[in-house]
Amino acid sequence: MSLPSSITPELLKKLTDMVVSTSGRTYPLTEVYTGDKVVDLPQSSPEDVETAYAEARKAQAVWASWPLKRRIDVMKRFHELLLQNGLNIADLMQVETGKARRMAFEETCDVLMVTSHYIKAAPRILKEKKHGGVVPIVSTSTEVRLPKGVVGLISPWNFPFATSLSDAMPALIAGNGIVLKPDNKSTLNVAFGVGLLYEAGMPAGLLQIVCGEGPDIGPTIVDNADYVMFTGSTATGRTIGAQAGQNLTACTLELGGKNPLIVLDDANLDEVIPGTIMGAFLNTGQACMHIERIYVSEKRKDEFTQRFVQAAQAIGVGASYDFAPDMGSLVSVPQRERVESHVEDAVAKGATVLTGGKARPDLGPAFFEPTVLTDITDDMILAKMETFGPVTSIYTYKTVDEAVALANDTDYGLNASVWGSDLKAAEAVGRRIEAGNININDGLAASYASKKSTSGGFKTSGVGSRHGDAGMLKYTDVQNVAVLKKQVLSNPPDTDWDKNVDKTVKGLRFMRKLGIR
Ligand code: NAD
Repeated sequence: MSLPSSITPELLKKLTDMVVSTSGRTYPLTEVYTGDKVVDLPQSSPEDVETAYAEARKAQAVWASWPLKRRIDVMKRFHELLLQNGLNIADLMQVETGKARRMAFEETCDVLMVTSHYIKAAPRILKEKKHGGVVPIVSTSTEVRLPKGVVGLISPWNFPFATSLSDAMPALIAGNGIVLKPDNKSTLNVAFGVGLLYEAGMPAGLLQIVCGEGPDIGPTIVDNADYVMFTGSTATGRTIGAQAGQNLTACTLELGGKNPLIVLDDANLDEVIPGTIMGAFLNTGQACMHIERIYVSEKRKDEFTQRFVQAAQAIGVGASYDFAPDMGSLVSVPQRERVESHVEDAVAKGATVLTGGKARPDLGPAFFEPTVLTDITDDMILAKMETFGPVTSIYTYKTVDEAVALANDTDYGLNASVWGSDLKAAEAVGRRIEAGNININDGLAASYASKKSTSGGFKTSGVGSRHGDAGMLKYTDVQNVAVLKKQVLSNPPDTDWDKNVDKTVKGLRFMRKLGIR
């Protein structure tokens, strides 16, 4: 299999040259479908990370001094460049992650939607807000939003382009610089996107790319950051959150999930089946919000299972740089081994494989079949732990209360899906699930693609959130500028405190009644 024709030696050199690195060390970046080496990716040392921050800080001072409109104009040009380059980015993403082309292209659309949203919303979100001050008429208080400075952004391999560029967008528009560490496996597509930002007119040096294994350079990234934006596993999130907390640096941690889907009795299976297939198997099941647990009432289990298994068997799995396959590879051989080990453990403890369950070395070194299991018990690893592969399990429930209790029986709280024809009833069930994203009659995309709404994980699925107003405001410090037209707050030395207390109480009551306070 040859690499897509857009991936030339010149392009690879341009992209690897963007990494801040003087260490002389490299990482062998490989094509997932074959395991063949594509390029030696330079690795950054902690000193390189320091250099990256110093350069980003210089550029950030310039960028933050630009009027917001000028920064937004850069992002308008970036949006157009991204529209023109979506398939080139999909080429790189497929090579690096092995995902199906449909998914790779859709991932570029996430960045387009986030960019478009903040181009429109930023002037309102970042606008100064003037309020009446402490004393009516003679005082004002104004909330001013200032960029944090330089954000340390660490992203995973599963949605590398979106978790890097979409999370960078509100930070950049708000006036910040960024030091970005993508995963070693998936750096090239991210660098391509950063190149488009520079082509669109972003000042040189504003967004620095550093590469390396997390434990090697992660601490330096966090220690130098004015804000930390991390997407990845819950285990790494705990390490990063602890370090950020020690530094008193604010952070967002977008972490793992073990997401449930409930099929209510009145659900239309013609919609449920394709929606659940997508929810469980998109991105080869390597999505933080994908569905790993399916709850169906005892009444409908047989009908659902028969149709769902049939649909899973019809998923076209393949290695190809065109839009033919429904599902691609897992990201790496270690990831395939992890998924395999979860399935083997479950089978050894009594789970039934309804379809799939095996690696597909005939397709490539990291392929694994779409897999549906049942008869899951709590002692199995995959009962509670995120598998992060094309593996989902069917459970039954007797009552809706039981379904909700089972859905909530997890340390995670990222996403949940509820299907039913009575929308009000389905929504009421959804609202009882402890998760930051609730999708009614959809697996996950409906909530994730709603960029106006803020969302994040509950419980061990995260801290903080992305999208919506909060997804931009988090990258700012708020300055409260209070102006007193006349000094009326200080008490002269001869203040009669009994009278003063009386006056204050009356004043507060009056203002409360008038709705001033
Ligand atoms: P990971 O935590 O192993 O790695 C994520 C990133 O952190 C990588 O760039 C990695 O190099 C870096 N890293 C690792 N150790 C580090 C350390 N000590 N200090 C600093 N950086 C470090 O996660 P992964 O396996 O790459 O990604 C899969 C996980 O990400 C899954 O758990 C998935 O659910 C989660 N995820 C969550 C979301 C979300 O929005 N909630 C989105 C995508 C993925």
